[in-house]
Amino acid sequence: MVHKKDEFHNVQPLKLTREAYKELAHHTEICLPFEACGILVGSSPDKLDRFIPVTNVSQNPLHHFSLHPAEWTSLLLGGMPVQGLYHSHPSSPPVPSSEDLNQLGSFAGLFTSYLIAGIKAPASVQQHGQKPELTLTSYWIRENTSTSPASYQSHPSGFTWSLEETRLVLHES
Ligand SMILES: [Zn+2]
Repeated sequence: MVHKKDEFHNVQPLKLTREAYKELAHHTEICLPFEACGILVGSSPDKLDRFIPVTNVSQNPLHHFSLHPAEWTSLLLGGMPVQGLYHSHPSSPPVPSSEDLNQLGSFAGLFTSYLIAGIKAPASVQQHGQKPELTLTSYWIRENTSTSPASYQSHPSGFTWSLEETRLVLHES
């Protein structure tokens, strides 16, 4: 299930192919109960055509993610048109944590978009063997300026980078 809100009409939407969504959802499911992460590649910043999973090497993968350095580096060096970063929040809502915002500094400039998935009712999923239902939120990574309207700019620690929420549109390749 993709999260849509009308109030983002002034913000350029992000487009995700159904194929990339399926890959992302599958990877998220097999990583449970841990956070899943990966990158999105595409032909332009607003077009996310493919999802590529990256191993989460965080010491605490229940609540954090950290991209496997070698996998991540080889993707970058391989000349992939990297556009976005994805991770899941298996046990919390799909909104950026303060750690997520802190981490932006190490990625910003490499990605322009940022996707987070929350998982609806993971307990009932295990009980009934159903596929987990994802709630995806999507953001543009913005460099803060004095005039930036970005949603998370007011976060107390004065991050250089912030996330501006936008609409995600699923489309056929
Ligand atoms: Zn997070």
